[in-house]
Formats: sequence, C-alpha cells, structure tokens
Amino acid sequence: MAPWALFTPGVLVRTGHTVLTWGITLVLFLHDTALRQWEEQGDLLLPLTFLLLVLGSLLLYLTVSLMDPGYVNVLPQPQEEAKEEQTAMVPQAIPLRRCGYCMVLQPLRARHCRECRRCVRRYDHHCPWMENCVGERNHPLFVAYLALQLVVLLWALYLAWSGLRFFQPWGLWLRSSGLLFATFLLLSLFSLVAGLLLASHLYLVASNTTTWEFISSHRIAYLRQRPGNPFDRGLTRNLAHFFCGWPPGSWETLWAEDEEEEGSSQAV
Ligand SMILES: [Zn+2]
Ligand SMILES: [Zn+2]
Repeated sequence: MAPWALFTPGVLVRTGHTVLTWGITLVLFLHDTALRQWEEQGDLLLPLTFLLLVLGSLLLYLTVSLMDPGYVNVLPQPQEEAKEEQTAMVPQAIPLRRCGYCMVLQPLRARHCRECRRCVRRYDHHCPWMENCVGERNHPLFVAYLALQLVVLLWALYLAWSGLRFFQPWGLWLRSSGLLFATFLLLSLFSLVAGLLLASHLYLVASNTTTWEFISSHRIAYLRQRPGNPFDRGLTRNLAHFFCGWPPGSWETLWAEDEEEEGSSQAV
C-alpha cells in the first residue's frame, strides 16, 4: 500500500479538527486573556475546567466521527431476519425497497450514503466535518457533541475577547494581537455555525424528523402519501425515544399505526 493511501479524507479531517482545537487553546493560553489572570491569582480550577471541557469535546467528536452510525448489515443477522419477517407480516403496504447500490433491503427511514458506500438506518446526513454519516446510532451523541462544543466555543470566545486590547499604531497592534483577533473571528464563526446546527437538530429531534426527510419529503415514498409526519409521537415521547430509546417500537410499526389512525379518522 502506498504511504499516501493512509491520508484518507477521514484521517485528514480528524487531524485538522484536533490540530485546530489545540492550536486555538494554545493561543488563548499564550495571550493575556482571563486564563492568565486566573493563573496569576492562583485560581487553577477555571483553567483546568476549560481544558477538561476542550478535551471532552474532542473525545466526543472523535467518538461520533469513528463510530458506526447505524449501517444496515449486508448479510442480515438472524435477529434482523426475524424482523424482516415481522415487517412482511404487517398488513399495510409499507414501501420498503432494495438499495440499488449495495442491494440490501432498506428498513424504513434508511438511506444509502454514497460517501460511506453503505445504507444507514434512520439516515440524517453525511457530515463532512466528521467524515461520517449521522444516523440512528450516533445521532444522539452528535447532538450532545454539538451542545458541548457550543459551550466550549462560547467560553473560548469570551476568553479571546478578554485578551483583546485595541491601540495604535496598528502595525504594532497587529503584531501583538493579530493572532488573537483572528482566533476571535474564527471562534465567532464556529459558534454561529454550532449554534444554528444545534437549534436545527433540536427542532428536528423534537418533531422526530431527519434532515434528509425535512429537505426531501416530497421525494420520499413513505412520506409523500401522508399529509403529516407519521413518526411524530409528541414532543416528550419523541425526545425520550431519541435520547433513551423509550418508548420502544420500530419505525415500521409506527408508520402502520399512523395509517390505521388515519384510516379510522377518515371513516368517521
Ligand atoms: Zn445501500
Ligand atoms: Zn455517509
């Protein structure tokens, strides 16, 4: 194997994230920010807490990025075969289909990801920053990561601001504070992106929708034939199922129940 084959997009993006994280942390520690003032006052608790949060966000990022997002097995496991039989027994015509790329029978809400070259259960999106899909298994951790990352970014933004002093001549200012100012701008941008992503994912999770379903509902067979979202069980149950797996139940069952409800409401 050629040595450059080791530099896959995944390795590059994860290395880039790690270097950027510690680079920004180092800039904050090397300038005259609140971190230094706390150290000088002998208060090490806050700098240590900040470092632990940075480390925690990095470990969470690597976990979500490297874990199985919920790939559909190419060879069905005995348990899944039983599930498929159950699905086949559901009387309503659930539009299951076979993937045209990897030929697996796609469970409801699964989608093929061309980057990962696999089908992913309850597919949300392929995240280029993670170089991994966000799907049924890692979506809760992805939301937790966004929340922690936003906390770290906002704290870092405050720290960068605390070290900024504006003075003339500008050439001298640029040499002493240019790097910190660039870090502040970068942190502002990242905070905005993380905040918007967290808000949109919380909205989607609260209504039991995925990013893919939200933007492409008109193209998705199992949504096209319904006026509302067949998986929405109300805010509390949606959140409880997403984060704790409770109340249990397959998407196929929910979809069939929704159709029954709709049928009975139309009959009335
Ligand atoms: Zn596939
Ligand atoms: Zn993917």
